[in-house]
Amino acid sequence: MHSKSLYSRCELCERRCRVDRTAGRVGFCHSLDTMRVTRAALHFWEEPIISGTRGSGTIFFSGCSLGCVYCQNARISRSAVGEEYSPERLAEDMLRLERIGAHNINFVTPTHFAPGITEAIRLARHNGLSIPTVYNTGSYDTVDTVRSLEGLIDVYLPDLKYYRPESAEKLSYAKDYPLVARAAIAEMVRQRPEPVIEEGIMRSGVIVRVLLLPSHLAEAKLSVKYLYDTYGSNIYLSLMNQYTPMPGMTSPLDRKVTHAEYSELVDYAERIGVVNAFIQEDGTQSESFIPDFKL
Ligand code: SF4
Repeated sequence: MHSKSLYSRCELCERRCRVDRTAGRVGFCHSLDTMRVTRAALHFWEEPIISGTRGSGTIFFSGCSLGCVYCQNARISRSAVGEEYSPERLAEDMLRLERIGAHNINFVTPTHFAPGITEAIRLARHNGLSIPTVYNTGSYDTVDTVRSLEGLIDVYLPDLKYYRPESAEKLSYAKDYPLVARAAIAEMVRQRPEPVIEEGIMRSGVIVRVLLLPSHLAEAKLSVKYLYDTYGSNIYLSLMNQYTPMPGMTSPLDRKVTHAEYSELVDYAERIGVVNAFIQEDGTQSESFIPDFKL
């Protein structure tokens, strides 16, 4: 199917709004069919095999198909802000980021613009892009959307936000998220079944992020166990403690994760045999790690 037509009855994520985004309609993600970018710059705060020493060429899109109540980037995820980007302009920016030293091109919250992104990657590759591409997603992608990326995305960086449907419904209005995300991740691992790391940078593979939320330790453990039981050391895990409560959050989301909660998650992962994992230092809970977006 031509990439443009994928917007005309949109089913890029499991919301399956089926709106015609080419005709001025928007669905849950608040986005028309023209990509909107809020920031395209080197970024140094991803996992070390993504950021390396020179930074990841990170491209942030506005709009989001999940809408988590605790979103730390709500300024850009809940509206169509940012500059309009054609696939040609996106391809040019990818090449610019490679020229200034980026280890990779890292698409953040890309699901609702997947057709435009695939077109841009083809153009950029045709014009000489040689660094890996990274798909940095909340994992509410349909399996068909992930399939459309085959051969174009080198590294998948998905979240596994929830294990329990009740949490997914309450916090992201998506009761089916656990099943949807597991299916999306399975397709990612099918495409990139083993990690390939060269000179400290991931060239191909899957890194799944588990963000520990306050008072959700048991659920995070279930996610870690599921991922390790299913994929062993064929994927990397990234255990994240950087949750930052935004104004207006109510208990238990109105506080940061404690050192004890996070240590217990890391100890648990070690105990069950996880070896390919990234953990964070306490300092990463600062709000300063939320990038400054150009709106
Ligand atoms: S990408 Fe947006 S319009 Fe398309 S199904 Fe998802 S939320 Fe709906």
